[in-house]
Order: sequence, then structure tokens, then C-alpha cells
Amino acid sequence: MIAATVVLGGLGCLAALLLATASRRFSVRTDPRHTALLEVLAGSNCGACGYPGCDAYARALLAGTAAPDLCRPGGTETLVRIGAILNIATTPRQSQVAVVRCQGGRQQARPKYDYRGLHDCRAAQKLAQGPKLCPAGCLGLGSCVEICPFDALFIDDRGLAAVDRGRCTGCGLCVSVCPRQVLTLAPAEATVHVLCNSHDPGGKVKTYCEAGCIGCRLCLKTAPGCFMMEDFLAVVRYGNEDAVTLAAAVRRCPTHCIREIAGTPAAGNVSPEQVL
Ligand code: SF4
Ligand code: SF4
Repeated sequence: MIAATVVLGGLGCLAALLLATASRRFSVRTDPRHTALLEVLAGSNCGACGYPGCDAYARALLAGTAAPDLCRPGGTETLVRIGAILNIATTPRQSQVAVVRCQGGRQQARPKYDYRGLHDCRAAQKLAQGPKLCPAGCLGLGSCVEICPFDALFIDDRGLAAVDRGRCTGCGLCVSVCPRQVLTLAPAEATVHVLCNSHDPGGKVKTYCEAGCIGCRLCLKTAPGCFMMEDFLAVVRYGNEDAVTLAAAVRRCPTHCIREIAGTPAAGNVSPEQVL
């Protein structure tokens, strides 16, 4: 009995010793900065930073292979805290929001065919380049709505994507999923936008949409420096805006595709009552 107890006790001690050695030998040291980074990142695992999730981004930050300003949902506060943890200097990036560059809803834009397939813009786009005659307008099937981790997008009563500017973090996921590049990111403080995405000549635009940019260049003449032309499409030169001349351009645009979106951050993109 005593012998058995001694043998069992010895085996127990040996096993404990082996386990302690193995644990020391194979232990993985965790960098306390990793935990700290996870605490300051947004935690939404949205992937907007370009990594599969917050954990992967934190590891890349520690490895020095990722820029510190990629967590857009976290904004400036997260950036500053990342800088403090990693002891590096950081420069806040300009905050941005998504803009839907289309106002060709059911009443304005002509259909090409009746689409009854998958409720997904990418699938619709694959079928003869989409069911709208306009090659660049919003299809309204909501692939962007589906991907937004912040519920910042919705399909409005015109059948177009719209942005809740109060919720949008400027992460850009919607921009990357849209098969027609309808969405863009614009500086949050910019209120005037060209809400068209068609680069076709004016005559052709008129055949498929009442609300598109016809490339008449009136905006360039009215507010020189505030706009540029990309093929036949006027584009705002963000950062060069002048409020007075921009307002004049908004008034003079013959198709009203240059819009001033009301300043309230909770406003959707461009429903008529929110447009000045
Ligand atoms: S913006 Fe793009 S992804 Fe969103 S509903 Fe329109 S076409 Fe689809
Ligand atoms: S609307 Fe687009 S940019 Fe804004 S939070 Fe959603 S996915 Fe990100």
C-alpha cells in the first residue's frame, strides 16, 4: 500500500514537472499592447482597414506593417490612442462620408428591362450590364445596404441608395461593393455634390435620365475652380469650394444634378425636403 502510494505520488510529481516544463517551453508571450490595441479599435470587425478583423489589424500594427489611421469607424480618437500605445506620431485624416452620386429614381431613369433575379446589384449588373438604360446609375438592389456594418445606408422611396450621414463612419465598404461605382467618399463638411455618375454626352444622358449631368459646363462658368469635367460629367473639386459661387451653380444647373444637401448629420442623401 505504501509502495503504491509512493509510486503514484512519484508519477504525479513527474507529470507535474513535465507539464510545467512544457508550459514554459511552448508558452506564447502576449504583448500587452495587443490587448490595449484591441480595446481602442472599433471592435466592429468591419474589414474597412483591409484586414480580416480588428485582431489582424492590431497584429499588423504591432508588426509595423499597417498605417495607424485605417480604423475609420474609430475616427480620430482611435487614431490618437493607437499613437499613444505604439508611441508614434499620428496625423488625423479628414473625416469623410459616403455620397450616392445618382438621383435617377423610378420617375427619372428609364429601365432597360424588367429584372427579376437575385436581389443583389452585383448579380443584376452581370445580366446585360444591369436593368437600367443608364450604365452608371444606382440599381437600388441594396448591395451597399447589406454590407454597411453601421446601418448607415437604406433604399429610399425612389428606389435609390441613400446615406444616413449621422451613422456613416466613412469606412468605404459600400464604395468597394457597388458594381457601378455610384458611391464615393467625400469630405464630411462638403455640402454640395454632383449627384450623377454618367460620363456619357448630354444627348445620350437625356435619352435615359431626366436628372443626369448633361456636361453643359454651366457650373464651371458659374463657379470656376469649384468644379472640373471628367469626360461629360461635372465633378466637385472638394476643398476648393466657395459657398457663394457654389450656391449660384446649384441654382443654375439645368438638370438640378448639383445639389446642396442640408447640414443636418441625420439627413439621408437627397430626398427633396432635405435639399436646399
Ligand atoms: S449604390 Fe451601388 S450597391 Fe448601392 S444600391 Fe446603388 S447600385 Fe447597388
Ligand atoms: S455608408 Fe459606407 S462608408 Fe458609411 S459606414 Fe456604411 S459602409 Fe461605411
